[in-house]
Amino acid sequence: MILEPKLIVADEPVSMLDASVRVEILKLLRGLQASHDLAVIYITHDLSTVRYFSERIFVMYAGKLVEKAKVNELLRDPRHPYTHALLTATSDPDAENAATFKDVPPGEPPSLINPPLGCRFHPRCHHVIERLCDVKEPPDFEVEPEHFTACWLYR
Ligand code: SF4
Repeated sequence: MILEPKLIVADEPVSMLDASVRVEILKLLRGLQASHDLAVIYITHDLSTVRYFSERIFVMYAGKLVEKAKVNELLRDPRHPYTHALLTATSDPDAENAATFKDVPPGEPPSLINPPLGCRFHPRCHHVIERLCDVKEPPDFEVEPEHFTACWLYR
């Protein structure tokens, strides 16, 4: 902060912290953002913390943006299958969840050196459209005003 930055890239800033101090750190960052008129790019896999901090979410899978929208819109109405998977995998500390099975997609993210043809998520996607998703990369489709998703389900 001594250098008075205009932009901070915060890559998983609270992922290694105890849950009890995460909110404090995010509040601190939020305070700095307001008092110093800062832009912050907050990178995380944990969508449960994003709502405290961000105005817009850009969801990335294997190096490609697959969904972008305002935070509340995206969390209320996610469209891309990978965004659904991320939200499903987000932990929710409710004792009732102990016996609940989370239906996350099988497999691993692909190699970025040799990514699959078409949609990069297609080897793991339950909704894959044969001879389309595995051949042609989807463009962005606007599903609501200012809400875009790169998925052939919304063509
Ligand atoms: S484009 Fe096809 S494979 Fe990719 S996320 Fe959409 S439905 Fe699934």
